[in-house]
Amino acid sequence: MVRSLKNHSYEEMQQWAVDAGFAPYTGRQIFEWLFRHFTEDTSEMLNIKKEVRSHIAEYGPLRLLDILEHESGGDGGTDKFLFQCLDGKAVESVLIRSQKRVTLCVSSQVGCAMNCAFCRTADMGFIRDLSAGEILEQYVQVQRLSEEKISNVVFMGMGEPFNNFEQSVRAALVLNHEKGPQIAARHITFSTSGIVPKIREFAHLPYQFKLAISLNAATNRIRDLLMPVNRRYPLEELLDAAKYYVQTTNRHLTFEYVLIKDVNNGDKDAAELMRLLRPIPCKLNVIPFNETGASYRRPDEKDISRFLGALSAAVFPVTLRLSGGRGINAACGQLYHEVLRK
Ligand code: SF4
Repeated sequence: MVRSLKNHSYEEMQQWAVDAGFAPYTGRQIFEWLFRHFTEDTSEMLNIKKEVRSHIAEYGPLRLLDILEHESGGDGGTDKFLFQCLDGKAVESVLIRSQKRVTLCVSSQVGCAMNCAFCRTADMGFIRDLSAGEILEQYVQVQRLSEEKISNVVFMGMGEPFNNFEQSVRAALVLNHEKGPQIAARHITFSTSGIVPKIREFAHLPYQFKLAISLNAATNRIRDLLMPVNRRYPLEELLDAAKYYVQTTNRHLTFEYVLIKDVNNGDKDAAELMRLLRPIPCKLNVIPFNETGASYRRPDEKDISRFLGALSAAVFPVTLRLSGGRGINAACGQLYHEVLRK
């Protein structure tokens, strides 16, 4: 991991200042320059002594990612950013605007090990974890460019955040910090493919972060086919962990369901979903599949309406997410980029 103050928590930043022979408040000031004012040039840190500034510069780089490409979806709703890390690896983030919120979808890993059958990122394989600083840098760079304030952050880009748990939570704590970006904890969502022990661990974090589970099937047979993680943590164990999360935190959770033609969009799937999710306080988010060149197909409008109709008796809310950004491959499950330099 590249050594950088961007990987430091608020408390560690103060300790760093003390260890370097400066007052703790210097650490607090640096934290604000980095995560409130998005400064990466130490000469702009006017309230910080020159000797401290040279110490900061010597410690390690403050810019951890460069924006290589910025594509707008044309609909005004979605922008995709391609970043290059200092070691040449590439990750992507997506900014999604809706009437009520501006959401940044960040990556937590370069590539992903989970190998979900419908996902483009899976084709990259797992390359490496991102550091907390690299996760935060996606937010810092996009917020510097954007006129609107990013109100929500979702860990739904490249990677399984629960496979990079410590760095992802560390980044979320900085995003939430009152001296930093101040994004409300309930506006920060972790999305997992279903790593059961980590769902239980997440339930015990003393923060209000939200949880989404990428479900995508109502039977083990179909989920095994779509998501290899199901062979390790089958539906029964996953749903037990979901119940445990709700009971422990007293918070609802969201299940994501990528709807794939002739795979999981039948009336029987809808009926089984209603049965499985009935005991769990939750919301179901249906996302029609975005074709990526894989063999799976997007259901047509008639199929989508029929599936939603079949769910009309559900006791939980059902929402339809029509992912923006399909034209720029920024939609759910489409993030992919060749590694720029090995
Ligand atoms: S859907 Fe998520 S967990 Fe599955 S391979 Fe893609 S990035 Fe990884």
